[in-house]
Amino acid sequence: MSHVFYRDPRRAYPQAAYGRGVYLWDTAGKQYFDAASGALVANLGHGREDVARAIAEQTSKVALAHTSRFSSPVLERFAARVSRVVGEPGWHVYPVSGGSEATETAVKLARHIHLLRGQPGRYRVLSRRASYHGNTLGALAASGLAERKQAYAPLLSDAFVQVAPPSADCPGIGNNGSCACLDAFGEAIARLGAETIAAAIVELVGGSARSGFVAHAGYVAGLRRLCDAHGILLVFDEVMSGFGRTGRWMAFHHEGVRPDLIVTAKGLAAGYAPLGAVLVAEPLFAEVAEHPAFVHGFTYSGNAVSAAAGDAVLAAVEREGLVENAAREGARLRTGLEALAALYGWIRAVRGRGLMLGLLLEDRAGLAAAVTETAWEQGLILYLGHGEAEGGDSEHLLVAPPLVIAPVETDELLARLGNVLDRVAAAG
Ligand code: PLP
Repeated sequence: MSHVFYRDPRRAYPQAAYGRGVYLWDTAGKQYFDAASGALVANLGHGREDVARAIAEQTSKVALAHTSRFSSPVLERFAARVSRVVGEPGWHVYPVSGGSEATETAVKLARHIHLLRGQPGRYRVLSRRASYHGNTLGALAASGLAERKQAYAPLLSDAFVQVAPPSADCPGIGNNGSCACLDAFGEAIARLGAETIAAAIVELVGGSARSGFVAHAGYVAGLRRLCDAHGILLVFDEVMSGFGRTGRWMAFHHEGVRPDLIVTAKGLAAGYAPLGAVLVAEPLFAEVAEHPAFVHGFTYSGNAVSAAAGDAVLAAVEREGLVENAAREGARLRTGLEALAALYGWIRAVRGRGLMLGLLLEDRAGLAAAVTETAWEQGLILYLGHGEAEGGDSEHLLVAPPLVIAPVETDELLARLGNVLDRVAAAG
């Protein structure tokens, strides 16, 4: 009998034994092609000796230098590297241990900034339906994902308000500089009162709640304008999309629009250590730095081993040109997925950026689960999406292999997926 409290106690989980690159093996010897990078985490692939060495070296020097008293050379090096790769205007890095902690931190920091500005009435957080920002109570309250929230509804603050997400059918920005999707945001601001709103948080490429969805051109810029006009801090949740996944260092680099705060995790240390961070744009940080400390912090904020992992991972992404590889192999994968989609009427769309690609399937309950479960049986790991946008669109999944994927491996992924889709089609 196992003493582990598994996510689903009724399910039998194979035990992962080791991994190399895009592959994993369990203790029974079964091989898996990890086309989900875990949950869009393992950007460097599995079994990296260079990262293992960096972690071991740091652990033997000092693992915990508590950030209430210390910084450390590795934390400084890591933060400087993050700021450099994320680019202009420079960023300050508030380290945490994962995406949910990062969301919580961003929400509290937004509130802190408005208090410093003498605007104590600002506390509400706007987000969107069909979104996911984490499973802790604040991050869950910010998420627009009914099935994860329902049971916990009495615990979730109504300071978090979800508005309609951008529509896939929006004809785009009209002559008035807006569209129905942006109007939904504007109406929520008017209804709640701009003077009560601290921040708006959005994903730029749909993750688990809207696999690969990208809003139409002008939407993100429109959001930036709305937030600026109303003194609302704009937060991009780049937990899944950050650090190379989309074929640029950050998803916001595709948009030409800069946020005030960025929530990151996952690819930041690629699964080699629990690590997340809130990135604060330099001009905003200058405001914060003049004032008493932000009342916040976690025991593992700035843990030196996690920082060593993050630094080694980002160094490898830079050295090996993996952002470029994500763009290149992402294009190859997308072409292959589109060819597969053309064979099956029930694949409605291929969408996303770089190696963060989503398949939107026909609205037949359980279809996406049938694909991901059949794939799992065949040793191909895909990421099942949850939740729906307006009027359906609830069956979707992500295809998001590690950024180290080689062309021959992209071809193998596509061949294995083709086989899975044949099986699902044959099963009706
Ligand atoms: N934000 C997004 C966009 C995510 O995809 C996730 C996790 O999947 C989170 C936040 C929460 O991150 P974590 O699971 O590390 O707490």
